[in-house]
Amino acid sequence: MQQQIVLTFMDGEQAEGVLARPFAPKENEIAVTLAEAGEGMQLSYPLYDLACIKLVGTPSAAAPTAQEIEEEIETVTGEKFHVSILTKEKYSLGFYGLPLAKTSHYKSIFFTFHGIKKRNQDRLLGSILEEQGLVDRPTMQRALEDQKKLRNRRLGEIIVQQNNFDQTDVERILSDARSSGEIPRNARIGDILVAAGLVSRAQIETALGSQQKGRKKRIGELLIEKKLITEEQLLGALAAKFRMPFIDLEQITPDPDALKALSLDVVTRLQVLPLRLRPNRHLVVAISEPTNPTIFDNLRFTTSYPVDLVVATSQQIADAIERCYIRTESRVEELIGELDEDAVHNEEENDDSAFSESDSQIINLVNKVLIDAYKKGVSDIHIEPGIGRQTCLVRYRVDGVCHVMHRIAAAYKNAIVARIKIMARLDIAEHRRPQSGKILLRYEGKKIEYRLEITPTVGGNEDAVLRILASSNPLPLPKMGFSQANLHAFEEVLKKPYGIILCVGPTGSGKTTSLHSALGHINHSDRKIWTAEDPVEITQPGLRQVQVHPKIGFGFKEALRSFLRADPDVIMIGEMRDAETAKTAIEASLTGHLVFSTLHTNSAPETVVRLIEMGMDPYNFADAMLGILAQRLARRLCDHCLQPYCPSRTEYDDLVHAYGEEWFEKHGLPDYGEGLTLVKGGGCRECNGTGYRGRVAIHEMMVGTPTVKSAIKQGKSAEELRSLAIDEGMATLKMDGIQKVFQGLTDLDQVLRVCL
Ligand SMILES: [Zn+2]
Repeated sequence: MQQQIVLTFMDGEQAEGVLARPFAPKENEIAVTLAEAGEGMQLSYPLYDLACIKLVGTPSAAAPTAQEIEEEIETVTGEKFHVSILTKEKYSLGFYGLPLAKTSHYKSIFFTFHGIKKRNQDRLLGSILEEQGLVDRPTMQRALEDQKKLRNRRLGEIIVQQNNFDQTDVERILSDARSSGEIPRNARIGDILVAAGLVSRAQIETALGSQQKGRKKRIGELLIEKKLITEEQLLGALAAKFRMPFIDLEQITPDPDALKALSLDVVTRLQVLPLRLRPNRHLVVAISEPTNPTIFDNLRFTTSYPVDLVVATSQQIADAIERCYIRTESRVEELIGELDEDAVHNEEENDDSAFSESDSQIINLVNKVLIDAYKKGVSDIHIEPGIGRQTCLVRYRVDGVCHVMHRIAAAYKNAIVARIKIMARLDIAEHRRPQSGKILLRYEGKKIEYRLEITPTVGGNEDAVLRILASSNPLPLPKMGFSQANLHAFEEVLKKPYGIILCVGPTGSGKTTSLHSALGHINHSDRKIWTAEDPVEITQPGLRQVQVHPKIGFGFKEALRSFLRADPDVIMIGEMRDAETAKTAIEASLTGHLVFSTLHTNSAPETVVRLIEMGMDPYNFADAMLGILAQRLARRLCDHCLQPYCPSRTEYDDLVHAYGEEWFEKHGLPDYGEGLTLVKGGGCRECNGTGYRGRVAIHEMMVGTPTVKSAIKQGKSAEELRSLAIDEGMATLKMDGIQKVFQGLTDLDQVLRVCL
């Protein structure tokens, strides 16, 4: 007897018939005789036209074996099936499922991949995580219990917790209120507590809000919060559950055709990224929320292409949107695109040497990258050739964090590095030794300097790192992000006629900017100010600024000696790199000069100890020292998408703990409860979905008070100096950072990232 079948077409049409010849999925088509087409009329359909093919018969009674996986499948035509799938069978266009319902009319169903709207493994996320060895069963069980607790949390409980009340007090108020009979029996807890004057309406709203949130909390979220798994691991498991490939966007460059299929507006709204247009005209789109069904529906609504989903992390998607959509206006990507096409052509001929540093395309590309980076406020450009045929990455450091910005075909890597070396007048024949140099460009009337470092790396490559030094103006002191106390202390110190002021911190912590603001503050025509810098990044009329050249024997030491013979009032030495410079600087400050300098130390008290270890005389230094400013730059919350929220008790406790419990209250930081709100960045276009934009300075200002000076003379440790200074009102870097968390400028993670 011939096999009876039911065909479901992509548009939802169904047709019954019999197989005209045995169905073989590899043939990519099916030959049938349809019931309504008349006897003997044989038709064949390409599988691309079909969503599924049902083979009529009695479902197998056998229980699924271990090689089978149970899945829920929904076709694009809206039919849903519960089937077991043989994992060992592989066809390019689809797969067989065996219906699990005994009442099914079909013994098996062939699903085409393009005909599926969604499929998911019919098992719990926990068991997938367990199978992947990420979470063990007891941990999973505990997390599930916590989830249940969160779902069943009562309002009273939340109010007690959020406002730090005593449970028994609240219970007493409630029972008194109920027994007094003045309140209707069915009054809600919130109303009673408000009537009793215990909480405000706003606090009740907050509690209701977090109750609501707790009810909606998914198990995956909870596992991430508890740091049991990472977002990546969760997505990996969800991808497995929903049968979507989990991909690494760092390794993939989307097709330009795919990018054209979705507008910037759609990709930012849905936070998705189109990757490929398959030969069957299916659009492959990366999403980060496989559990959210509205994304698929939205995509089907906005594009005419059928959509295949893959999973990637939200961060990677946000980065890629930035890279592929937002930053293309400079045309750098287009230029790279042109190059890529040529590179493919060239690889076939297997001849890289056709690309030379003098090709106009290469010259154009390098210029564009340099200018593009400057326009975007990038601090460093990293050009990182891959090994062999791997693409060459161009990463930009913005606000202290590196991002992959461009990928350039391997065939161009040597020409690009050679071009950069030529621009910096370096030896292009030298490939084995590091070289440094600089490039000067003029753009829109501004002089931009790039400090270049060429470093030979494995695979016969050379990496190029360019630091961008754009001449800029100093910021006035009040714009430097000082706390009121620090601003006042710093201004007081600057009134002194002589002594030494140090600004300390790691590279890139904004030391030079601070020193220039300080110099700007005291830059009047009655004072002679000399500065020695490497490089001169900020210029100010009135200052006499000197660029040092250690290579030709004109370093900070030599500059300082020269200044002392040149009738100075104020001297700024870019950095005290050696003991002799430090000693000379301190002596100069004791002989009537105001001296500014920087040091690579972590904190203000550590600086004192370091200088003494370097051989400075503690008495001299104590007499000279006016103040030490330690500094960091933390990422600033994006002020376009700030959202207030009520921190959990744990989050608040973390802040208190990081600040130091004994100081938290003394310094007048807010109590928990009473509508305490913090803010966080929700992520928007301005910040590319990261929630951060720009940076905020964090300070630690140790003033040379009599107590501090005498402690220095007694050779006290950094720890002792620190606590003495705190007693006298110093806020440590961490404290200043946490104060800025409460001001809504940054968050604890970012503070801890920069202050150990
Ligand atoms: Zn934002």
